[in-house]
Amino acid sequence: MAEKQVVIMIRQFLRVTLFICLVYTGPAAAEWYQRSEAIMGTRVHAEIWHEEAAQGEAALDAVMAEMHRVDALMSPYKAESELSRLNNNAFEHPFVVSEEMFRLLQKSQRISLMTEGAFDITYASAGRFYDYRNAGRPQDKQLSEAVMAIDYRHVIFDPENSAISFALQAVSIDLGGIAKGYAVDRCIEILMALGIDQAMVSAGGDSRIIGDHRGKPWSVGIKDPRNPDAMVAVLPLENTALSTSGDYERFFIEDGVRYHHIINPETGRSSSASRSVTIIGNEATFTDALSTSVFVMGLEKGLDLINRLPGIDAIIINNDGKLHFSDDLLQLAH
Ligand code: ADP
Ligand code: MG
Repeated sequence: MAEKQVVIMIRQFLRVTLFICLVYTGPAAAEWYQRSEAIMGTRVHAEIWHEEAAQGEAALDAVMAEMHRVDALMSPYKAESELSRLNNNAFEHPFVVSEEMFRLLQKSQRISLMTEGAFDITYASAGRFYDYRNAGRPQDKQLSEAVMAIDYRHVIFDPENSAISFALQAVSIDLGGIAKGYAVDRCIEILMALGIDQAMVSAGGDSRIIGDHRGKPWSVGIKDPRNPDAMVAVLPLENTALSTSGDYERFFIEDGVRYHHIINPETGRSSSASRSVTIIGNEATFTDALSTSVFVMGLEKGLDLINRLPGIDAIIINNDGKLHFSDDLLQLAH
């Protein structure tokens, strides 16, 4: 074949390829739109598959706006948040809260009952004396007084007036064990209302996925609690919520004791029952609260609860570093 003919053939080939590329430029605008922001004291991240750039970006705007809205309502660090105002007033008189806050407090109470008090938003009566960044913790006397104020039954509900009161002055509540999951669920609802069918939203250790990842499952890793660069497991997931609570997220070590942000409501001290608990389920609000709860309940009681809850699974790294799975996951593995 003459050299010239080869050149012509290459040109033709390029033209055909170029033509195909042009034909495909329309649908190729569909892509993953993603964004991360620091909100609620953690990293909020969203990834959305969309056909249109403008709508993909607008959906990301809506996610971040919702995260900021929930933070403004529920942050214990913002003096004007609804939560702070509730904490400052509910002992003096019944404090009227928004319907949204009332419902989340009721849900927290139901989870306290279900977990026999392992989940308890009044943990903050003692929890507020810890400062993990500056190695601050309560004195023994301070702690023993504060522990008396930890009991979800100290939070009194008046559904008729949407009001909350505290039975003791020392009661303080914090939604850190459920608010991130709640915010993730709210964002997912917004995305679904926008017609989005493939997305992932996470706030720290709480995530929820709609659909799959272009025909394949998402790969979600579970960190090794004692080696931040290593994974102990990678899970293929779609259409699900997932939360991890670990003793390595916010902590300091003093005299060999690890002081971290998951508190045993019975003692007001960091729970040493587990190193990491991951819960898989349908709603991030529930998986968030359950990961904190099962962490405190420990392996035996925790697995017992999870195995009784339909559609909920757990991966637990015990305080001896061993990996354990709930029954359904064990069956899947075999
Ligand atoms: P994070 O995503 O912040 O790591 P986790 O789901 O691991 O949250 O839960 C820990 C947070 O839950 C703590 O920072 C605190 O705000 C709150 N918390 C700690 N202990 C309890 C408890 N026993 N019951 C309810 N909430 C708790
Ligand atoms: Mg949690």
